Amino acid sequence: MIELKDVSKWYGKFQALRNCSVTVASGEVVVFCGPSGSGKSTLVKLINGLEDFEQGDILFKGRSIQAGGTNLSELRTKIGMVFQHFELFPHLSVLRNLTIAQEKVLRRNGAQARKKAMELLERVGLEAHAHKYPSQLSGGQQQRVAIARSLSMDPEVMLFDEPTSALDPEMINEVLAVMVELAQEGMTMLCVTHEMGFARKVADKIVFMDGGAIVETGGADHFFDNPQSDRARDFLQKVL
Ligand code: ATP
Ligand code: MG
Repeated sequence: MIELKDVSKWYGKFQALRNCSVTVASGEVVVFCGPSGSGKSTLVKLINGLEDFEQGDILFKGRSIQAGGTNLSELRTKIGMVFQHFELFPHLSVLRNLTIAQEKVLRRNGAQARKKAMELLERVGLEAHAHKYPSQLSGGQQQRVAIARSLSMDPEVMLFDEPTSALDPEMINEVLAVMVELAQEGMTMLCVTHEMGFARKVADKIVFMDGGAIVETGGADHFFDNPQSDRARDFLQKVL
């Protein structure tokens, strides 16, 4: 579904990614972890075209996302993204947050868009909050709205960049529960997260990064029980 081949990226003279290669099959859940500054956010941003890169290639369903023909806004409807900060539209109701892109980008009519939005709000347990504004919701509720909003575009892949790291502890689980359900339903997911319990439960693969490079890739059990590199062992000692 997604293939990174020897991708390198520089911010000016600083090399943020070094020859990164990862393959994510359809339905797979891949968790990216590693110390701060290791390049995790940069890597996921490249995949939906939020940053460009200088070397290597990224394929989405076999086609290079850099090839001239790729339409970035189309790519972004197929690859949903949820960040640490919820980035909902503050001046729009929850419902409108979920319908606006369906109408403007996918050209669904108002009734279709609302139906889809309400189904998704129900799925994340927030149908009763449809007419509130984001500021009237807790952080965990806002993040669930953000996930529902991404899903409203019927993405084929979901990218998550530390979706729970700005949340109070009691709200983390309600967001992780939505993500676990999504994973179990077969969504293809790339998740940057320090939630190692989540990783152990749903990750098909863990990618450990350090210094812009992929240091280690493996199954969750293997990674946690038997990390191969000193850097991964050090990292796990800090987060577990
Ligand atoms: P964290 O766990 O703190 O979120 P990360 O693994 O997501 O870290 P990135 O945000 O991808 O790390 O950053 C990788 C490196 O690239 C860091 O050294 C960072 O300072 C640098 N970097 C990131 N964005 C930019 C930018 N826009 N301009 C210059 N350097 C950048
Ligand atoms: Mg980051």
